[in-house]
Amino acid sequence: MGLSVASATARRLIDPLLAVVFPSACPACGRLLGHPGRGPLCEPCWATLPRHHAVACRCGLPLLPGRSTCGRCRRGRQPFAAGASLGPYEGALRVVLHELKYGGRRRAACPLADALLEEPAVRALVATSDVIVPVPLHPRRLRERGYNQSALLADAIARRVGRPACSDALVRRLDTAPQAGLSAAARRRNVRGAFAVRRKAFVAGRTVTLVDDVLTTGATALACARQLTEAGANEVRLLTVARVR
Ligand SMILES: [Zn+2]
Ligand SMILES: [Zn+2]
Repeated sequence: MGLSVASATARRLIDPLLAVVFPSACPACGRLLGHPGRGPLCEPCWATLPRHHAVACRCGLPLLPGRSTCGRCRRGRQPFAAGASLGPYEGALRVVLHELKYGGRRRAACPLADALLEEPAVRALVATSDVIVPVPLHPRRLRERGYNQSALLADAIARRVGRPACSDALVRRLDTAPQAGLSAAARRRNVRGAFAVRRKAFVAGRTVTLVDDVLTTGATALACARQLTEAGANEVRLLTVARVR
């Protein structure tokens, strides 16, 4: 506690100095950063992150006007009891997620967690969960990157709502090819059998919120949800920062 107050104070003093000595620009808009210590984006970009401005289905999918359920939920073809996300994978949200995942900007997980929890639907979703579980990386990728961006997000969210996170509840057994560039069917094949539950005791009989940075076709989230359900999760919910439209 004392330490974090001290480091916050130090940052407040050092930030303006950093801004002068090492001026750096916001990667989303190019403005010079007034507070480089606050993560990669400038204040206006943090304040205006792209957000979904639509009613969401119970699975979290933003709906077309006039709809109350998405096609998948109507057909009973998705395993999530609830879901939410912040916004579309565009603009400054795309930039900051890219910085978090590939740019080594681990601290970006904290303001992203803050932004997510500003949404009442997100807060309700996680505050009533028993455990928060990130989508895991394969150990080889974890070694290369040094961290799992989804685990950083899950931890930051869990701390803010006082719920436990369990970053090794799920493991990734197969180092699958990157999903980018694959069709929806190929993505489902690609992740088949890739995940397993390692910590059954954290999952069985619990309400589990699965956390990922970006949802594209949902194949990865679906594969994780299947394993969680098979391990006896009472309910699986899905929280992602962004969704590809
Ligand atoms: Zn900016
Ligand atoms: Zn739905």
